[in-house]
Parts: sequence; C-alpha cells; structure tokens
Amino acid sequence: MALLIENSCINCDMCDPECPNEAITMGENIYEIDTDKCTECIGHYDKPTCVSVCPIDCIKPDPDKVEDEDTLLAKFLRMHG
Ligand code: SF4
Ligand code: SF4
Repeated sequence: MALLIENSCINCDMCDPECPNEAITMGENIYEIDTDKCTECIGHYDKPTCVSVCPIDCIKPDPDKVEDEDTLLAKFLRMHG
C-alpha cells in the first residue's frame, strides 16, 4: 500500500531526496506522498527508504490505499518500465 506522512512531520527534508519515484513533495504545511507514485520502494529497495531516513517515524502505511505486491510492481514498471 502507499504510505502517508502524518501531521507530526517536522519538514526536515530527509525523505524527499531519497524517494526513487519522486513521490514526496512539500505540501501546504508538511511533506506529502503522491499515492500514484509510491510503490513502497518495490523494485528499488527491500523496504521503504523514506521510513528508514525519517528521524521521527511519522511515515506510515495508508490504510485507505491498500495495494498488493503485484499492484505495486505494476506501478513501478509503469514509471520505470
Ligand atoms: S516508500 Fe519509497 S516510493 Fe513510497 S514515498 Fe517512500 S521512498 Fe517514495
Ligand atoms: S523525513 Fe519525516 S519528518 Fe522529515 S520531512 Fe520526511 S516525513 Fe517529515
């Protein structure tokens, strides 16, 4: 499933440059993840790299965006084919 950034984000800018899909951008107040681009890093890394670099652990799975591995892989192929 895609991930989401919780309101506790401190805008430290650690995650944005690490995303291989350019899915993370600055929103109105905090950073946001584009659901259409987030693959949980499938195809690039073993685990979500944004989660690994976030110093306050505010990036979580989005319960409204549940996707299986095949769907995430298809998203990866669409972007990086
Ligand atoms: S899980 Fe990976 S693809 Fe999704 S926002 Fe984080 S770094 Fe980007
Ligand atoms: S790494 Fe975490 S705290 Fe920093 S901008 Fe990204 S989501 Fe926000």
